[in-house]
Amino acid sequence: MPASNATASLLNFIVDRAHMGIFVVNQKREILLWNQFMEIHSERKADTVIGQNLFEAFPELPKKWLDRKIENIFILKNFSFTSWEQRPYLFKFAHNRPVTGGVDCMRQDCTLMPIKDSCGEVQYVCFTLFDVTDTSIYQSKLEETTEKLRELSNRDGLTQLFNRRYVEEALGKEFNRARRYHSKLSVILTDIDFFKKVNDVHGHLAGDEVLREISRRLASGLRGTDTLGRYGGEEFLVVLPETDTQGAYVLAERLRKTVQAKPIEIEGASLIINISLGITELRESTAAYAQLIAEADLALYQSKENGRNCVTLFQPGF
Ligand code: GH3
Ligand code: MG
Ligand code: MG
Repeated sequence: MPASNATASLLNFIVDRAHMGIFVVNQKREILLWNQFMEIHSERKADTVIGQNLFEAFPELPKKWLDRKIENIFILKNFSFTSWEQRPYLFKFAHNRPVTGGVDCMRQDCTLMPIKDSCGEVQYVCFTLFDVTDTSIYQSKLEETTEKLRELSNRDGLTQLFNRRYVEEALGKEFNRARRYHSKLSVILTDIDFFKKVNDVHGHLAGDEVLREISRRLASGLRGTDTLGRYGGEEFLVVLPETDTQGAYVLAERLRKTVQAKPIEIEGASLIINISLGITELRESTAAYAQLIAEADLALYQSKENGRNCVTLFQPGF
């Protein structure tokens, strides 16, 4: 339907003022229309680009990719869309958001629309370009926050070690893996000796500090593949994939010595703290991962019975 003069000038006005980039190219990629949004952000007035080849006027454009995209519109006669998630931007435009958003330039969603003649042949391609910088900033903030929450939900607040849920889950996974691949798996359960006394003599806050320091010492004595978690108040569980009890014993002894190697200074006091440890390993008869924890606990109890500050291997007779 032909537009009246009044309608045509209204349309021109709207296209020019719309809060999105609008421009049109013909089959030779010559620019035929360039609205105000494009003028402002490219810092190129319409009369300096109209009639020019798009790629000569803007050599920084991804020519190979975009040229093929335009060609496809002429051939296939369909709309085409590219989102900022696939390609962050078409034109490298500045944005006016704070740099703290972490986005270097304007993120853009682009639509390429075929404009057809009365025979249905595509004569022009109209680009619309939306500024979606805010969406991209919100999305990356959301991803960051989700990641932080996920990390926090796996950690124990006092010691920053993995919490009981996480370390049990890790043990469950390793248990299944070791069963499937017939590989080795050991666990160490450890408990601080006479910890109640630390609280009683020095106070609960000093006790907390000792817990934090022991956590750091335990973590420093492990390998990358081991998973250490706070299992209870002053109990810690270590999952040791690909490790038999001999290997676990060497590691447990190292942990025991690392913890007592130097005094912990708190509240003007200098405390030597010891730990007791219990070890077990996966056997044919192990029914479930929880059995490993129960066996390590029995071995740990034996270490306490044997005078503490020592390591015990689980034996079926316990
Ligand atoms: P044993 O050598 O037999 O293990 O003696 P113990 O005193 O360490 O054992 P017991 O289980 O009697 O005491 C554990 C203490 O750990 C009791 C509890 O108040 C303390 N505890 C548990 N969680 C925390 C914590 O988060 N902070 C502090 N400060 N103390 C804690
Ligand atoms: Mg204890
Ligand atoms: Mg205890």
